[in-house]
Amino acid sequence: MRIGLGYDSHAFKPGVPLVIGGLAIDHPEGLAGHSDGDVLLHAITDALLGAVSAGDIGTFFPPGDPRWKNADSSIFLKTALEEVATAGYRIANIDTVLVLAAPKIVPIAGELRQRVADLLQLRPGDVGIKAKTPEGLNQDGVAVAQAIVLLVPIGTPTDLSKMTATVDAETDIDSVVKSLVAEEPLGTGLKRRMPIYDTEDIT
Ligand code: MG
Repeated sequence: MRIGLGYDSHAFKPGVPLVIGGLAIDHPEGLAGHSDGDVLLHAITDALLGAVSAGDIGTFFPPGDPRWKNADSSIFLKTALEEVATAGYRIANIDTVLVLAAPKIVPIAGELRQRVADLLQLRPGDVGIKAKTPEGLNQDGVAVAQAIVLLVPIGTPTDLSKMTATVDAETDIDSVVKSLVAEEPLGTGLKRRMPIYDTEDIT
């Protein structure tokens, strides 16, 4: 397995469209940057590149290059996914933290998670999106994102516990195969007890 960590920050700027996690968000200010300023996708891109020791987002997309002016950051993410696949890995799961004073993320948290999952070709249950306000940091004009990703070799089953299935004389081989390839409803494997996003701590 491989693990990768990503971090990014961008300042809010009036009159700029706000895009976070590939999602256009209705807000009076957006994030300033050479590209579309998508702080979350930049952090995820760096986590992916870091996990396969392939440099960082600036290695592939230098900020001085006019080709990336106002670029859709999903382009950066796609390149990082290609690097991961070339190295022989796929994402097992990813977790992220957004730190920003506004806008509130709760109303769009589900949509945001779905969008990031789509971009990463993951199930929403393999994507964590958490948001915090910058309490005590005096950085309300800035959005910060952190991302951590776990990679496994291509071909590794999604649910490792199912690799322990065994066959004995009494067991029908077909039922074992079916259990190995079965899709479980999201969350059941994690024995989730609390509903997601039901917290005052999310902005
Ligand atoms: Mg950035």
